[in-house]
Amino acid sequence: MTAEARLQGQVAIITGASRGIGRAAALALAAEGAAVVVNYASSAAAAEQVLAEIRQLGSDGMALQADVGQADQVEALFAAVMEKYGRVDLLVNNAGIARDTLLLRMKLEDWQAVIDLNLTGVFLCTRAASKIMLKQRSGRIINITSVVGEIGNAGQANYSAAKAGVIGFTKTVARELASRGITVNAVAPGFIATDMTANLKQGEEILKQIPLGRYGQPEDVAGVIRFLAADPAAAYMTGQVINIDGGMVMA
Ligand code: NAP
Repeated sequence: MTAEARLQGQVAIITGASRGIGRAAALALAAEGAAVVVNYASSAAAAEQVLAEIRQLGSDGMALQADVGQADQVEALFAAVMEKYGRVDLLVNNAGIARDTLLLRMKLEDWQAVIDLNLTGVFLCTRAASKIMLKQRSGRIINITSVVGEIGNAGQANYSAAKAGVIGFTKTVARELASRGITVNAVAPGFIATDMTANLKQGEEILKQIPLGRYGQPEDVAGVIRFLAADPAAAYMTGQVINIDGGMVMA
């Protein structure tokens, strides 16, 4: 745990925290003293490893399997967290998948799977967390969207639609929950080196579009999540979308 430990006594749920950006966010919030719930879909061993690292940082946590695109599984996830901790202070809606193909080749299943997890999953978890946070009269929700939700990307009609939906959802929920001291913000990564981007063939082409001249690392995104979750300076921010993209998209 760092000297700051600004999240001591707080409970964070991070969806899709077994790998990539979610894993880095879990470690960043644990370093601030939060108890961290490491949600995952199928990587049980990786999630347990993240939990071990959280404990090495001096924090507590639990690894919980749940497909957060499924309403009953989200309900069970939140019930398990409430049983152990009795509160939820932070929610990072991070779990996401891509099923890239051009529109004319896109099957309904490719569309539906991405919408179910990347958009409906955010709705389900935010609704569950907000019920708890409204009673607490505090909470911070951070949704991971993407720059492609802002500018589109050929081959990602399903993914960019879901991510654009997350931006609209963030702004609406921020307005609904503001009066109870709950902030809701979105983080929009550009190209981050994780399993999700490992097989992208146009990697070199993308690099040319990044003014800072490198791909992002999960820790680049986690740093901003940590700021939104823990920094007093973020208390007056809500309904915002923060790009972390090496300058790829400048509005
Ligand atoms: P990643 O390395 O592929 O990790 C995905 C995580 O989501 C894993 O922990 C995975 O769990 C979990 N997950 C998958 N399906 C799930 C489900 N149905 N229920 C619960 N968890 C599930 O992805 P990433 O690159 O870190 O991406 C994290 C987020 O950032 C996503 O929302 C993604 O869209 C967004 N993003 C990424 C980039 C990028 O360049 N990487 C750019 C913009 C936005 P298992 O390990 O169990 O499968």
